[in-house]
Amino acid sequence: MFAFDYQRPAQIADAVAALAADPEAKPLAGGQTLLPTLKQRLAQPSALVDLSRIPGLSGISAIPEGLSIGAMTRHAEVARSALVRTTIPALADLAGMIGDTAVRNRGTLGGSLANDDPTADYPAAVLALNATVVTDRRSIAADDFFRGLFETALKEGEIITRVDFPKVEKAAYAKFRNPASRYAMAGVFVAKTAAEVRVAVTGAGQSGVFLWEEAGSVLTSDFSPQAVADLSLDPSDLMSDLHGSAEYRAQLVKVMAKRAVASIA
Ligand SMILES: Cc1cc2nc3c(=O)[nH]c(=O)nc-3n(C[C@H](O)[C@H](O)[C@H](O)COP(=O)(O)OP(=O)(O)OC[C@H]3O[C@@H](n4cnc5c(N)ncnc54)[C@H](O)[C@@H]3O)c2cc1C
Repeated sequence: MFAFDYQRPAQIADAVAALAADPEAKPLAGGQTLLPTLKQRLAQPSALVDLSRIPGLSGISAIPEGLSIGAMTRHAEVARSALVRTTIPALADLAGMIGDTAVRNRGTLGGSLANDDPTADYPAAVLALNATVVTDRRSIAADDFFRGLFETALKEGEIITRVDFPKVEKAAYAKFRNPASRYAMAGVFVAKTAAEVRVAVTGAGQSGVFLWEEAGSVLTSDFSPQAVADLSLDPSDLMSDLHGSAEYRAQLVKVMAKRAVASIA
């Protein structure tokens, strides 16, 4: 690791000011991605601004539209939350599928979204549920938040404070894990409201998480596993690597979508 300063502000305004004062500083959440990146010398921030002691960044609460989850809320807390389980159970299921116990006890919702790994789980839920990412300065609709591989709409020094998830009629997440890393090789989140069905796919797209619009529109008129089984996903925009070809991933996505729908149809 390179040498860096460490700051642990007690207020969000102080964290924002520290990041604004030094463009090379970075927020630190649970360190699950950031610290390995530093150890591998892939990043060299001048300072880490630890968000863990800022009140109000962590916790889960009911809001009229659904659920509000603080950016510093750990995956384990979401997985075991009775409130999440009764309001959007698929979100608790998803959080419980992330990594292993150690990762779930340290990793955070905000860190996962800011990092926007193309194989991370939360982006699929945020996109399918049409959630709102709230930062220290604005609200960003999920459709505008994810911009590509490890790229989001966040500006330099902008801090995610919470994510607001609307209630849906039904939702489910099905994931095919990479057996070594446990990240998704194909993760499909299906969310059904009275008006439409949204299907978001992680782990497979060359440009990160994406909405599978064809599946969404077919499921809007016929919410059944068979409706997905009859579709085929074009592999040309999918990832191909040592873990699997684009064609294999296209098939995995279809199977995961079918499983997700079957679990709630
Ligand atoms: C072994 C292992 C297995 C894993 N498996 C999975 C998996 O199966 N599925 C999955 O989805 N993920 C997986 N992860 C990732 C994990 O879920 C973490 O959520 C993710 O790495 C982010 O970590 P963190 O929250 O600790 O953020 P950090 O590592 O602290 O930060 C990550 C990035 O986000 C920025 N950041 C952090 N918080 C904020 C904020 N509030 N606002 C703005 N920027 C912020 C940081 O500056 C940094 O650039 C795995 C990680 C490991 C180490």
